[in-house]
Amino acid sequence: MNAMQLDMTAEDEAFRAQARDWLIHNRPTAPAPREGQASRTYATDWLAKCAAAGWSGLAWPKEYGGHGLSPARLLIWYEEYARARAPSPLDCTFVALNHAGPTVFARGTEAQKAFHLPRILDGRSIWCQGFSEPGAGSDLASLKTTGRIEGDHLVVNGQKIWSSYADIADYQELLIRTDPGSKRHKGLSWVICDMTLPGITVRPIRNMAGVTHFAEVFYDDVRIPLDAVVGEVNDGWSVAMTTLAFERRTAAMALQLDLSVKVEELIALARPTPGTATAERLADLRAEAAGVRAMTYRTALRDPDTPFDGSLVRLTFAELAQRIERAAMDVLGPDGLTDSHWTHGYLESYSETIAGGTAEIQRNIIAERILGLPREARL
Ligand SMILES: Cc1cc2nc3c(=O)[nH]c(=O)nc-3n(C[C@H](O)[C@H](O)[C@H](O)COP(=O)(O)OP(=O)(O)OC[C@H]3O[C@@H](n4cnc5c(N)ncnc54)[C@H](O)[C@@H]3O)c2cc1C
Repeated sequence: MNAMQLDMTAEDEAFRAQARDWLIHNRPTAPAPREGQASRTYATDWLAKCAAAGWSGLAWPKEYGGHGLSPARLLIWYEEYARARAPSPLDCTFVALNHAGPTVFARGTEAQKAFHLPRILDGRSIWCQGFSEPGAGSDLASLKTTGRIEGDHLVVNGQKIWSSYADIADYQELLIRTDPGSKRHKGLSWVICDMTLPGITVRPIRNMAGVTHFAEVFYDDVRIPLDAVVGEVNDGWSVAMTTLAFERRTAAMALQLDLSVKVEELIALARPTPGTATAERLADLRAEAAGVRAMTYRTALRDPDTPFDGSLVRLTFAELAQRIERAAMDVLGPDGLTDSHWTHGYLESYSETIAGGTAEIQRNIIAERILGLPREARL
C-alpha cells in the first residue's frame, strides 16, 4: 500500500523520515538476551532511551504522558520500527505499555494513574497479565482464584498460569473472583497485584523453544489493599474487556507490520531461482504478508466501532506467521536445527494460534459476529 492510496500528508511523510532516522541511529545492535533479568534490563534500557527522546507512549493520550498519535502515524511508526529491526515489541514491556497502562488510564483512580503511568512509560516498572488459570483459558469467565474482603484488604488464594514475564515483573493485572456466591462474568475484580507481596510464588515454565517466557503464579493468602482494585469491586469483567480491547488494538499492529520485513529477510536468505517451487512459495508468502499489512491498515484506519475485524486480522496473521516460519525451516534445511533466530522463531510460532485467543475461538467470533452464523451453545 503506498502513500497515495492512504492520502498520507506531507507532515506524515516528514514524521516517517524523522522516525526512520531516529530508529536507525538509536536501536540497539546487540541481540536481545532471551530470558531473565538480562532480558528485562535490555528491554527497559531501550524503552528508557525511547522515552528520553519522546518516542514512548505514542498511542497514549497526552494528558497521561503520551503523544496521542493518530492511527496513521502509529502505522508509520510501527512500519519504520519493523524496517529498522528494532527490539521486539512483544518483550517484557508489552503488557504494561499496551494494556495494563491503558486500562489504568481508562478505568483507574487518580492515585493509580499518578503512581503507575510514569513508571510504565519510561520502563521503571514491568507488568504481567494474570487472567488465565489451569481451568480457565478460552473460557475466562470460569476462573476460580478468589479474593476475600477483609477490612481494607483482599486476601487472594488460587493459581494463574501462562503469565508472560511473571518471573521478572513488578506488577500483575490480576483478575479474581471477589463475590463468593458469583458465577461466570459477575463478581470479578481487576486488581493491581504487587509481585513482591508475601504469599506469591512464581514458577517459570520452559517452552519448547527452551525459554521461560511464561510462568505459573500461586497465591497463598496474599493481602492486597482494596485501593489496588481498578474500577469497582465486583465489576472486573467490564475492566477486563477494556484491557482486551487495548490488547487487540494497537498492540497487534507492530507484529502484523513486521511480517513483510520477515518475508523479505527470508527471500534474501533463500535467493531462490526464479520459476522453482521455492520461489513460488516465497512469492505467495510475500503476497499474503502484503494482504495482512493491508488488513492492518484497514482495521486501524476505519471506524473503531467495528471491533470484530480484529479477529479476522489476528487469525490471518497468526496462521501466516506460522507458514513463514515453516518455510524458513525448509529453506534452511539442516541449518534450521542450529540455534539461530529462525529456529527459535519457528518453535515460538506454534503459540501464535493460542496466545490472545486461539484460532478456534477467533473462527467462532468471525462465524457468529461477522458472518451471522448461529451461536454455539453456551452454559
Ligand atoms: C505464548 C503465550 C503467552 C500467554 N501469555 C499469557 C499471559 O501473559 N497471561 C494470561 O493470562 N494468559 C496468557 N496466555 C494464555 C492464553 O490466553 C490461553 O492459552 C488461551 O486463552 C487458551 O486457553 P487455554 O490454553 O486454557 O486452552 P483451552 O481454552 O483449554 O483450549 C484448549 C483447546 O480447545 C479449543 N477450544 C476451547 N474452547 C472452544 C470453543 N468454544 N470452540 C472451539 N474450540 C474451543 C481451543 O481452541 C484449544 O484448541 C498465553 C498463552 C501463550 C501461548
